[in-house]
Amino acid sequence: MATYDKDKVATRLRERAAEIEERRRHLRADDNEQRDAELADYDQHPADQGTETLEAEIDQTTLAILDAEAKDVETAMQRLEEGTYGICIVGGEEIPEGWLEAIPEAIRCINHQKEYDAELRARGGPLL
Ligand SMILES: [Zn+2]
Repeated sequence: MATYDKDKVATRLRERAAEIEERRRHLRADDNEQRDAELADYDQHPADQGTETLEAEIDQTTLAILDAEAKDVETAMQRLEEGTYGICIVGGEEIPEGWLEAIPEAIRCINHQKEYDAELRARGGPLL
């Protein structure tokens, strides 16, 4: 069993949740600004449209990844309470301590996390 300080992990998870929420807020604020700018400027330059679409797609992908991360943080908090923190939710393997230290919200072993990331990327479009 990996050893960890429950309080310390809980604190780090809360910090991660706040960080993710902050990034989501920024992305949404950017979205609103863009929409306002579009409303104000009907006379768009065609050359800019491709770039804006691409940026919107990147934002959507980033949002999808942030949503997934927020869900991981929530799950990790739950598992910390249940005493199953540090165990892969997919295969039940023990998650290496160093991995948990680097990513406190890790709820999958490295292999299953790679699979999950690939799936997420396939769903959310290419990650640039
Ligand atoms: Zn696993």
